[in-house]
Amino acid sequence: MSDRAALKDQVFLRMALEISRLGTCCRLKVGCILLRPDGGLASGGFNGALPGMPHCTPDTCGPGMRCLHTSHAEENALSFCDGTISVAYVTDEPCLVCTRALVRRGARRVVFARPYTSIAEQERAERQAILDHFGVKWEQLELSL
Ligand SMILES: [Zn+2]
Ligand SMILES: [Zn+2]
Repeated sequence: MSDRAALKDQVFLRMALEISRLGTCCRLKVGCILLRPDGGLASGGFNGALPGMPHCTPDTCGPGMRCLHTSHAEENALSFCDGTISVAYVTDEPCLVCTRALVRRGARRVVFARPYTSIAEQERAERQAILDHFGVKWEQLELSL
């Protein structure tokens, strides 16, 4: 990878981290930046409850619980742009549902900082099947800027 490509990865992942600060889940704040096929910025999003609904609480999203209360950052970023995307930068490794949505819209490369270690085995297997089928590049990257 060229220095320039590595720099872009760092900048876009850093942007995902920045927008994650707006996330409203009390357990985990997630940010997502999407690129168009030509490399331009397509969209950004963070995880949050539907507009007008109350935010997450320790009762909906305590330690060890999955956040089912929010729309995920990837889902929100996808809903804020039209057309095909190419790359997704996400602070946290995407779940199965978001992976499916990203791939359906064209994503063939996903870069994330934090791994999703508590994912259930069945969900991990379904996600992996999608990644294998579509040849999606799935890359964990340390933020170094
Ligand atoms: Zn939550
Ligand atoms: Zn998700």
